[in-house]
Amino acid sequence: MSDPVFSISRLGWDESLAIAFAPFRERGMSAGRVAVQDKHHYVIFAETGELLARIAGKLFHDSCGDAALPKVGDWVAFKHAPGDAKAVIHAVLPRRTKLCRKFSGRETEEQILVTNIDIAFIVLALDETFNARLLERFLSMVHEGGARPVIVLNKTDLCSDLDAYMTATELSAGGAPVVAVSAKTRKALKQLLEYITPTSTVTFIGKSGVGKSTLVNKLYGEAIQPTVEVRAIDSKGRHTTTWRELIVLPNGGLVIDTPGMREFQLWMAGEGIHEAFPDIELLAVQCRFRECSHTQEKDCAVKLALVKGTLSQERFNNFAKLRQELAFLGQTRLYHQPFGRGASETDKRKKSARKKWRYTDTDSGEDD
Ligand code: GDP
Ligand code: ZN
Repeated sequence: MSDPVFSISRLGWDESLAIAFAPFRERGMSAGRVAVQDKHHYVIFAETGELLARIAGKLFHDSCGDAALPKVGDWVAFKHAPGDAKAVIHAVLPRRTKLCRKFSGRETEEQILVTNIDIAFIVLALDETFNARLLERFLSMVHEGGARPVIVLNKTDLCSDLDAYMTATELSAGGAPVVAVSAKTRKALKQLLEYITPTSTVTFIGKSGVGKSTLVNKLYGEAIQPTVEVRAIDSKGRHTTTWRELIVLPNGGLVIDTPGMREFQLWMAGEGIHEAFPDIELLAVQCRFRECSHTQEKDCAVKLALVKGTLSQERFNNFAKLRQELAFLGQTRLYHQPFGRGASETDKRKKSARKKWRYTDTDSGEDD
């Protein structure tokens, strides 16, 4: 295919990737970017066009866990022999950023949803589902993976008090930009597009129903959308129709829209919490104790800010809750024994504590 879209420089290829790729080039491999990942195959965008691909047995066996396998957004090194139906992926190049979700309940498990994104748009709808605490959780997730968050307030057409929502959002935004749009009326979509510069990669996260798919469709333009279909052959030789999950916008920006992003639900907090709450971090350095928990300690700047009202109690409570999850994750990471038969009494107590924690979690962002 000679579609100029497939020049890899248009897909975000840069100097540091070229350096990481050099040893693979010497071994006769090519570079491509993963556009679809499903059970049976991958679709990669490469210099020669769009290719069906599978992973090399060695890559599969050498990977410790799913996280090391190619994900949508990844740059990979592959070989494609003339006449072969599928290219073979041999390596995943280093990831710049990622978005992952961590599961509670089982051993802490990380599932990487997408990689190498520049901006994650956190979408909230301006209706009864608006939730500043959920926003703080999403912000922590985005910061943790290294991408830049931009907050999108969607459905402005349904909203009569935008100013109040803007104020509430900015209090939780930790300095991230906020854009108010309507996917329905296309209001301010241009402003959103300004963030999606050519060769940059973005994705949309947020609760189900906030308008993520509508936004992607509107940004793409209805006229071009049907062409994103890819005819593919699965491992049993059947023809299947799948969608590219890495979408090239008419302006040259890239959008990742995977089922995982659309179904995006409960995410656990991670290290990104510190960047999501810069105001609390700033206060904490003024606390008398370095490891201040901001609960019992003397001369606590955070408690003082709560009393003065310069920090909202709800925001602090959410911070404390996310921090508790983080501590909990640390605990489970150290704790690899199975909880089944033969588990010690301590194991079992931990298991039941974990269950309790999980089910009493009320405003964690789980869909109803
Ligand atoms: P997703 O689950 O986040 O992908 O949400 P969808 O894109 O499927 O949208 C959920 C519902 O909200 C659909 O019925 C959309 O038509 C509607 N919707 C999306 N954007 C807007 C908007 O800006 N205004 C209004 N009034 N409805 C919208
Ligand atoms: Zn303190």
